[in-house]
Amino acid sequence: MGKAGTSGAAGAPRGLNVLRDPVLNRGTAFTEAERDALGLTGLLPPRVHTQAEQAERFLMTFRKLADPLDKFIALNALHDRNEDLFFSILVDHIDEMQPIVYTPIVGLACQKFGQIFQRPRGMFISIRDRGNIAKVLRNWPYQAGIIVVTDGERILGLGDLGAHGMGIPVGKLSLYTACAGIHPTQCLPVTLDVGCNNDAVRNDPFYVGLRQKRVTGAEYDAFIEEFVTAAQEVFPGVVIQWEDFANHNAFRLLENYRDRVSSFNDDIQGTAAVALAGIFSALRVTGAKLTDQRVLFLGAGEAATGIADLVVSAMVAQGMAREEALRTCWLVDSQGLVVKSRQKLAHHKLTYAHDHPPVGDFLTAIRTLKPTAIIGVAAVGGTFTREVLEEMAKLNERPIVFALSNPTSQAECTAEEAYRWTGGRALFACGSPFDPVQLNGQTFVPRQGNNSYIFPGVGLGAIAAKAKVISDDMFMKAAHTLAHLVTESDLAQGSLYPALPRIREVSAQIAAAIAAAAHNTRSAGRARPADLLQDIEAQMYDPHQQ
Ligand code: NAD
Repeated sequence: MGKAGTSGAAGAPRGLNVLRDPVLNRGTAFTEAERDALGLTGLLPPRVHTQAEQAERFLMTFRKLADPLDKFIALNALHDRNEDLFFSILVDHIDEMQPIVYTPIVGLACQKFGQIFQRPRGMFISIRDRGNIAKVLRNWPYQAGIIVVTDGERILGLGDLGAHGMGIPVGKLSLYTACAGIHPTQCLPVTLDVGCNNDAVRNDPFYVGLRQKRVTGAEYDAFIEEFVTAAQEVFPGVVIQWEDFANHNAFRLLENYRDRVSSFNDDIQGTAAVALAGIFSALRVTGAKLTDQRVLFLGAGEAATGIADLVVSAMVAQGMAREEALRTCWLVDSQGLVVKSRQKLAHHKLTYAHDHPPVGDFLTAIRTLKPTAIIGVAAVGGTFTREVLEEMAKLNERPIVFALSNPTSQAECTAEEAYRWTGGRALFACGSPFDPVQLNGQTFVPRQGNNSYIFPGVGLGAIAAKAKVISDDMFMKAAHTLAHLVTESDLAQGSLYPALPRIREVSAQIAAAIAAAAHNTRSAGRARPADLLQDIEAQMYDPHQQ
């Protein structure tokens, strides 16, 4: 029971409990009638402000902050105070806010997580909770519809940040809400703390996680299994999105659980869909066929193999033999071109280890294989050098150049470099945001090949249809849907993706495609509504108050 004046007769929060609950609190926007009903009179200054006025007030101080980390802290504090206001600002200023709450600035926030920690958000489940995970999950006060879970071992391109990786599930779920209207109380960020192998992070005096090395092997697997089972028990049908696991776990976990529970790995599958959509857009410009492309990846991890797999599936769908399609995709890792003769190749690289003499470096691989597209996903900054870009421009009238690594410090090249060293001919997409580029009297508007175009819609569609599994085919449908929303005027200015402010429309369309796929394959857990798009739009949370 709450203290006198903090809970109503039926236990509904009142007074300060309302103001201290970010889900309920609307601060000075509470009307006089609401103040009366909730026991807020006297606890707020008398003047009622509209939500729009509150947003203006926040933005006034927010925009004076020069340091992006300070901006992150200010937004985070607002998130902890007043969720409707936070999300209304995210929705209305997504271009400005997404780079702060998500990549690239969330990377910096994770690196400083211990120092800037104020209030917990989401759930930290540690290896010490083994045997009790269901009980721990029951401490969450809401019915979760989607969980984004990480073990913090490979945070963006920044490596093992342990429990400090929590910034990523939190940031990503903010986008599920802002971009797709999944209600904030349905979103549960989870960090599984099994330790941290990064000495500098673990020994930091402000580290918030367990101060031990990572648990691995059978104990790790049993912990994950208990988590998945407990999550399904406490939140039946909950969608699980695996996030920023290291290679040696990411592929395994995806395979182990994809047919058992509604789950996906966004680093592998979401990235694949957004990259394939970008390729579809680029091909609208060149008029070339997908099956005539040769794609060379810098990087051979989750993003690279995920994209390659979806490109191959798309080629096969267009009638190409699978063996032939596989040979259009090539990987370069830190040891050079991935070829069959190399010893001890990781399992996930084997599909693309073709018969070919060894090639030591990326530039030589370009000269040898003559790709039509290069895709950077190695998290090594500056690797698309002037020579690389000039070579691509020599080989192709319109080279496809995707520098997808995050955060900005790890980007393979800047937008300016991509356009400059290809004479403005690159069909370019980037992982981190870059400003428009002026070159030879033309303005190029590069857009982010960021999986935030994909995962919010996939999550929304899976929740709406109560999808029992999330298939690769759904990601193919998501890629096609996203590509169809790119306009001719987007393409004319070099943009391979729709403008970000259209994201809620994009997410609703993707969600409808995902839900349709679930219903068509009988993997939906509810009856098909008459109009899928309308049904989805009706479910989307709108944080705006009149
Ligand atoms: P990963 O760790 O699975 O893969 C990285 C790969 O790069 C590994 O295969 C590694 O061997 C290789 N590599 C390392 N050093 C190299 C070098 N010097 N030359 C060539 N290859 C090298 O990581 P991932 O999940 O594939 O992510 C890679 C990058 O892509 C990260 O920066 C991540 O933030 C970014 N990413 C971007 C998006 C997006 O939406 N734009 C989505 C997913 C991942």
